[in-house]
Amino acid sequence: MLHFMSMDDIRKTKQELERTKVELGILYEVSNAMRTTLKLDEILYIILTGVTAHTGLGFNRALLFLVNEKDGLIEGRMGIGPESGEEANRIWSQIKQEKMGLDDLIDAHKISNNSVDSAFNRQVRHLKFPLRENNASLLAMAVLDGMPLYLNKENICAYRQDGAIQFLKSEELVVVPLRSKEKVSGLILADNFITKKPISKDEIRMLIMLSNQAGLAIENSRLYEKTVTHANSDYLTELWNHGYFQYLLQKELEKARATKTPLSLMMMDIDDFKIYNDVLGHQFGDRMLKKLSLLLKNQSRQMDHVCRYGGEEFTVILPETEKKEAFLIAEHLRKEIEKHVFIHEEIMPNKKMTVSTGIASFPEDGELPSALITSSDKKLYEAKRRGKNNTCI
Ligand code: GH3
Ligand code: MG
Ligand code: MG
Repeated sequence: MLHFMSMDDIRKTKQELERTKVELGILYEVSNAMRTTLKLDEILYIILTGVTAHTGLGFNRALLFLVNEKDGLIEGRMGIGPESGEEANRIWSQIKQEKMGLDDLIDAHKISNNSVDSAFNRQVRHLKFPLRENNASLLAMAVLDGMPLYLNKENICAYRQDGAIQFLKSEELVVVPLRSKEKVSGLILADNFITKKPISKDEIRMLIMLSNQAGLAIENSRLYEKTVTHANSDYLTELWNHGYFQYLLQKELEKARATKTPLSLMMMDIDDFKIYNDVLGHQFGDRMLKKLSLLLKNQSRQMDHVCRYGGEEFTVILPETEKKEAFLIAEHLRKEIEKHVFIHEEIMPNKKMTVSTGIASFPEDGELPSALITSSDKKLYEAKRRGKNNTCI
């Protein structure tokens, strides 16, 4: 028996085909964009652009959380979304006017140096929820269950006290896990906070498909970043190695020049280390180098780059730091080392393990990496001549 479609059926089928075409287009563009980079922040931005762009899934806001297994936390990593209706209108009409597609938005971001610099993003990056606790939070539950979660106007009330809902104030929300292999590595949250447009089944389905791809891309990127870190680290001390030190100094100097900010370089050498080695042997010497490196790393600021220049010489690159401040930081490190009780340090000439440090600063001591290295090295030898265990500028 022949079955005839009514005009209505035909129109519906046509609409469905149209929608599928758009959906495939979005998935294709997002997965293509994700293939162009291995940098985690770029990947995260591409994912969230795909979720929020008008030419993408079109959610008003999207947040990405990653699971930090080591510290047992679910951490906010990026958030995209306007804070107010006015801001939303301004951004959305600009995008419409300039006919920006998904790829344009992603490119624009790469050109602007990969920073999502909004108050919303900064707030999201401060969010942290415990992964395991008795009264599990909404996000912890989503990670542990590993299933998408759709909260509508009715059932979202049950989570009014939840940290994530208190922050977002959503009336309707979808939470989708990011999977890599068998594990949940993160979550995407999306809502229509500004327009209050109801979230459709199709949108949830699309978000799940996009998240499945995103999970794999994140996993690849994390593996890549691990490999890069490993390749640039010194095997004994796990500080940055000499090659990477040269690279970092070059990069940080370029940035300092461009932003007209100062930069300082510390060159540090252990005092009479040969004696320690000769008396106790190189294995003890190696253990000492490891211990001292850990101390340097723990006692320096997050923004500083602590490197093993070679042998028992260390460098610390201090971005945005002028000489006076660098001197104070070096003295702090020197005193911490002097205070620390190292194994068998009583065999040293002054019964203590100590270091001497020379400092050079950009721009006054030189503009090029080589000039700063030479200059800090000279200051280091001055510190040695002055009797060791001190800092020279
Ligand atoms: P100074 O106070 O003048 O610096 O005296 P020093 O004895 O420390 O002299 P120098 O800085 O030239 O020290 C080099 C010594 O450091 C030689 C070697 O015994 C030791 N050393 C260098 N690299 C390593 C290493 O990787 N492992 C061990 N165990 N010792 C090292
Ligand atoms: Mg030396
Ligand atoms: Mg030495």
